[in-house]
Amino acid sequence: MKSQVAIDGPVASGKTVVGRAVSQDLKWKFLDTGVMYRAATRIVLDLGLSLNNNPRIIDALKRTTIELDDSADSEKILINGSDKTDTLRTPEIDRTVSIISKIPAVRKELVNQQRAIANRGPIVMVGRDIGSVVLPNAAVRLYLDARVEVRAQRRYREQSSFKTKMSLEQIKMDLEQRDRIDRERDDSPLEIHDFYTVLDTSSMALTEVVTMITDICKDNF
Ligand code: C5P
Repeated sequence: MKSQVAIDGPVASGKTVVGRAVSQDLKWKFLDTGVMYRAATRIVLDLGLSLNNNPRIIDALKRTTIELDDSADSEKILINGSDKTDTLRTPEIDRTVSIISKIPAVRKELVNQQRAIANRGPIVMVGRDIGSVVLPNAAVRLYLDARVEVRAQRRYREQSSFKTKMSLEQIKMDLEQRDRIDRERDDSPLEIHDFYTVLDTSSMALTEVVTMITDICKDNF
């Protein structure tokens, strides 16, 4: 598909910030699929469900609506009609989201929604399985990577406005744990495939990465 860019990669590899900037350059829609898995996790936590009770989790998700509202400048996520955007990036969700994302029925439902969104028009989509599973025919499939120390530093710096801060060492451990679960799951694991163009962003500035990707897109469209 000419009008699709898929970007995958581990935690804090720069996918979201880069993907959003590329979508703005191309004047295309942007979808960060991580927020959909985070919203599913929010629902499970708010209902107090056990993380290994898959039937109850699936039942709860079927009875809940997750909507993405990108009509304004910033994207919002609504759960049963109410704006939950600010509740999706907590340490609790960070620690739980990979467990919920392993459940095949959860993935099936969210992948269907992601493909439906992509069918509406040109899109830059970021996640863990976009190039491999969700949009395998995307014109450009990228894998963004960075050294784990660099990725942990990025997350550490993002905390500047948080009331309670985590140590760099704790962030690095949590990040490695989440990557491990995402890489080792049976359904749609995070993997580097031959078809990806791999970019290591460890020592690159955001603008450099965006320009490089926009150039790759121009060569492929
Ligand atoms: O990208 P972000 O860190 O917000 O993603 C949160 C989690 O959602 C990931 O660690 C992963 O478990 C899950 N995820 C996924 N497939 C995607 C996007 C995110 O499994 N396409």
